[in-house]
Amino acid sequence: MLLYNTLGRELQKFVPIEMGKVGFYGCGPTVYNYAHIGNLRAYVTHDILMRTLRARGFDVQHVMNITDVGHLTGDNDEGDDKMLKSAEERGKSVLEIADSYTKAFFADTDRLNIIRPTVICKATEHIGDMIALIKRIETNGYTYSKGGNLYFDTAKFADYGKLALLRPDEQKTGSRVEADNNKRNPRDFALWFTKSKYENQALVWDSPWGRGYPGWHIECSAMSMKYLGEQFDIHAGGIDHISIHHTNEIAQSEAGTGKNPWVKYWVHNEFLVLDRVKMSKSAGGFLTLQTLVDRGYDPLDYRYFLLSAHYRSQLQFSFEALDGARNARRSLCDRVRTLLKKEEKANNARADAAASYLEEFNAAMDSDLSTPRALAELFGLLKDAEKGEIAADTALTAVFRMDEILGLNIKQGIEKDETRSDVDAVEIKAIEERIAERAAAKKTKDFAKADAIRAALKEKGILLEDMPDGTIWKKLI
Ligand code: AMP
Ligand code: ZN
Repeated sequence: MLLYNTLGRELQKFVPIEMGKVGFYGCGPTVYNYAHIGNLRAYVTHDILMRTLRARGFDVQHVMNITDVGHLTGDNDEGDDKMLKSAEERGKSVLEIADSYTKAFFADTDRLNIIRPTVICKATEHIGDMIALIKRIETNGYTYSKGGNLYFDTAKFADYGKLALLRPDEQKTGSRVEADNNKRNPRDFALWFTKSKYENQALVWDSPWGRGYPGWHIECSAMSMKYLGEQFDIHAGGIDHISIHHTNEIAQSEAGTGKNPWVKYWVHNEFLVLDRVKMSKSAGGFLTLQTLVDRGYDPLDYRYFLLSAHYRSQLQFSFEALDGARNARRSLCDRVRTLLKKEEKANNARADAAASYLEEFNAAMDSDLSTPRALAELFGLLKDAEKGEIAADTALTAVFRMDEILGLNIKQGIEKDETRSDVDAVEIKAIEERIAERAAAKKTKDFAKADAIRAALKEKGILLEDMPDGTIWKKLI
């Protein structure tokens, strides 16, 4: 199996550290808001990788963290505390916020048929592990204290920036929105905070450096090593994590254990973009899986949409493209349903043809998870089976083997009575134009017009809800 390793920037043969076993860590969500559909691209990528490895017979330990403390809006220690800000805005405690968005996250991943990780670990439940790791980093001489906080000294770590291919001169002039004057170098990062602008930090713990809370990066190092050992096979996340989060994870882990490399393969998914802009939670205005469901899509339409592109290609989201994915997925289920009704039994020559499609499918997945190619093999197989060139029963066996990796849940799709409650792309565009018109009317204080638009949409079964970031809508079925 070939995987593209960001560390080295090349396709490499996957050889695990221990034969037959794979230790895999995927950075999990920061639970201060719903996951947007861009985040979900990362978790579908992890799932596809996991399913492929398991299908090859590997015993995979998949660990995912839940970030419920320490993550600021800027990855490099600047900005607001994401959890605290969300809790304040919603008038809830940080733990209540974490709990409700963690539940919402797994409800989304379940609907996308993402297999739950073997270990799900919350940052707030592993503070002791983080403190223990920070102590080792300190003992090895990679830290300094300043202004009450403990920092990692990137200048002491010779390999700093090897994942992101950072140049040493770049390290000194990292552009920063808001400098932390305690830092000797802009790229240094906090391991432990006791003093910050958040005097009202809700969650604090005692530590050798004073009462406070951990920096964001240390949680992934401490928890991954706790469950997977000091060196493990694969670490994954979105490409936004290469230059800061994963770079810092590598530095502190290798500084703490003295072992190199900490992780053998680094797998990063490209972004999902909307109007050519990266979808992001902090920027406000994003699409959730529920938004798609409210508009009549099956969550698996979105999964299909993701699989139709390679995980390392940037993917432009549009409702037109999602309509295309929905049609393709439904056609897939319809065709498999028809095939199931055929009585035809295999003869040997036909069994070979199905096997060769399966082989090509596996070759595509083994070639850095090439899902678009793999889908093409699946459709090729169906076509030949429909022409009678492959017996229905052997074709079906192959189809369901392929679906163990694709996770499109074709079996469920066949049984499901697809309620055709679709809202098509043209209608979506028309609704959104009306919403924009209403927003403009509200801006000019023409509330009569704004109310008239709302009422007219309601008559068509479209309900509007005004949110801090804008207006969302759903169609009554
Ligand atoms: P967060 O909850 O912000 O820590 O992000 C969770 C995961 O989603 C991380 O692996 C990010 O790299 C990834 N991610 C964030 N935005 C996008 C996007 N627009 N497209 C794909 N992946 C993303
Ligand atoms: Zn992480």
